[in-house]
Amino acid sequence: MRGLMMEMPLLVSDLIRHADRHHRDTPIVSRRVEGDLHRYTYHDAHERSRRAANALGKLGLQPGDRVATLAWNGYRHFEIYYAVAGSGMVMHTVNPRLFPEQIAWILNDAKDKVLFLDLTFLPLVQKILPLCKHLKHLVLMTDRAHMPAGAEGLLCYEDLLAAETDAFEWPALDENTACGLCYTSGTTGNPKGALYSHRSTVLHAYAICLPDAMCLSASDSALPVVPMFHANAWGLPFAAPLVGAKLVFPGAALDGKSLHALFESERVSFSAGVPTVWGGLIQYMRENRVRLTTLKRTIIGGAPCPPAMIRALEDEFGIEVNHAWGMTEMSPLGSVCKLKEKHLSLPPEERRAIREKQGRVVFGVDWKIVDSEGRDLPWDGKAFGDLHVRGPWVVSGYYEAAQSPLIDGWFPTGDVATIDADGFLRITDRSKDVVKSGGEWISSIALENIAMAHPAVQEAAVIACRHPKWDERPLLIAVLKPGQQLAREELIAFYEGKVAKWWIPDDVVFAKELPHTATGKLMKTALREQYRDHPLPAATAASSGKVVA
Ligand code: AMP
Repeated sequence: MRGLMMEMPLLVSDLIRHADRHHRDTPIVSRRVEGDLHRYTYHDAHERSRRAANALGKLGLQPGDRVATLAWNGYRHFEIYYAVAGSGMVMHTVNPRLFPEQIAWILNDAKDKVLFLDLTFLPLVQKILPLCKHLKHLVLMTDRAHMPAGAEGLLCYEDLLAAETDAFEWPALDENTACGLCYTSGTTGNPKGALYSHRSTVLHAYAICLPDAMCLSASDSALPVVPMFHANAWGLPFAAPLVGAKLVFPGAALDGKSLHALFESERVSFSAGVPTVWGGLIQYMRENRVRLTTLKRTIIGGAPCPPAMIRALEDEFGIEVNHAWGMTEMSPLGSVCKLKEKHLSLPPEERRAIREKQGRVVFGVDWKIVDSEGRDLPWDGKAFGDLHVRGPWVVSGYYEAAQSPLIDGWFPTGDVATIDADGFLRITDRSKDVVKSGGEWISSIALENIAMAHPAVQEAAVIACRHPKWDERPLLIAVLKPGQQLAREELIAFYEGKVAKWWIPDDVVFAKELPHTATGKLMKTALREQYRDHPLPAATAASSGKVVA
């Protein structure tokens, strides 16, 4: 048939080319590891990423080669994203918060040939270098003046760029060429690589700009707090050039004070990050009696956002919170929680109850919940089962792995969830974190959210403890806010009337802090190691099974 649309591949390089042509003077502002604020434009970023692409060629890299980064959110990292992906290589963002041995394992598994690193990570890299088998070049992402002693043999990023021109044509690649690689945080076993393509990355970037997703536009000043090494900062380095949004990169300074200063000076209107970061910011704003005067809305995800946090940000600080869910294997966005038109007339508390969920699916992803036999479960907001997903930005397999994780074409997320009649998802657990009491499931996230709504509680984790009669019973591990006191009995009483009696935790342990993974999630494996055999109070335990209640 004649007269069809133009056949043009979806390529990552077109995002930066578009931003240069149509948003030439839109700023990108970065807090540098060197300490100061750096400011330039999409035009400059495009120019420098082409110089970087020429430099990659000089280092002997070929299309398909993996190039690793250990870097914070900043303009040089952004340039490398485009230089590597745009020229047909694979941009491998490595999470520097993993254990050093795990980082070496990942670099070896990906067979990375070049590693770009921020100054911060030089000691880490020097430690693991003897373990890394494939690295040919190390490039310090700084200028000559900041090259430290002990960096002999390392290349200097600014020197590499200064030696090149911007005469570089982005190659016309097949849109199914690999462009990015990100390993899962690997709470169990070795991390696994999710390999993104140009097509999946561009489609994902379109999708996350939609009004019911991140609602990103050219009138936004967007600050990704979520690191570029955690699922590509949730796609923002691709979505911002797509719409021409101003980009603000926070570098290594992710504490409440530094973030607050940057949000204010750069008039940030939109941000995205995991709950722990927002916790730090809220604490800073309360202690210093300050507000964020330009921030309108934020996406919180990567771990369950406690309802108490939504309440604090919206009611105390006037910032709209949109709870979102996704995973590295999904590029990462799956869902965002925004209301439907019919919900707008509901009383505020009912609207709030909906907005605490993980939200509705973004077009491009489809999902279902299934029981242990793989049978579809109803979307009634009550039945919970294993969540399976599919879509053009969902992995079909792990990097270089022989076995496909897919079940009948669907990717099993490992999350347990309910879906209601309006299509809103509620994640109740990771499947391995569910508390199985007398054969029935108890949602650890629901119990954590209740504890965190108590004014004295800063953070809470619920894990399964071994129990002679019920197999497992919930144990609450709570961290109190500074200066607060609370008795075990008071916290247990706080659950009454909020959940079924047999869900109420059998015991409470007060801890100074809770362990987190490299991507800000509660590290329940460590907590289970420590508390699995915690002796539960006999009287409570004996009367707390579902049958008795
Ligand atoms: P990662 O690939 O490191 O981003 O981890 C993905 C996992 O984080 C998901 O499978 C969920 O278990 C968890 N997760 C992400 N967002 C949320 C959320 N909003 N609520 C609950 N769990 C979440």
